[in-house]
Amino acid sequence: MPDRMNELIRYIFVYHRHLLTPYESAAADSFLAQAKARSASRFGHSAETMLQVAEEMKTLASKDPVVKTLLDRGPDEFYSSVSLRLLRDHRGEIKLNLCPRCLALCKTPRAKQRPKCYYNSRSKGH
Ligand SMILES: [Zn+2]
Repeated sequence: MPDRMNELIRYIFVYHRHLLTPYESAAADSFLAQAKARSASRFGHSAETMLQVAEEMKTLASKDPVVKTLLDRGPDEFYSSVSLRLLRDHRGEIKLNLCPRCLALCKTPRAKQRPKCYYNSRSKGH
């Protein structure tokens, strides 16, 4: 997946989490728990416990057929299709903070510092 897409997905999921349906939210929690358990195992933390928790969450979430369908698609497909749905259904609520100079997406909805070109709208004296 291209980097710009990943940045957009992260931005939408972090700052517009409230727009998810309860099913999408349950699936997102489960994917997040799996990702956390995987990264914990890379650093040698109590990965076994975390993997167990992630597995339990997945099993629990899978009991709902709608959530199961979302989980079966896998994380990449889930994150990109839900992001596209949110952009389509909640266009007015999702404020993309784009750099006025290069149109790069900023890290947060209120960030003034531009990650790509370092243009700072505050230092322009307006
Ligand atoms: Zn820029």
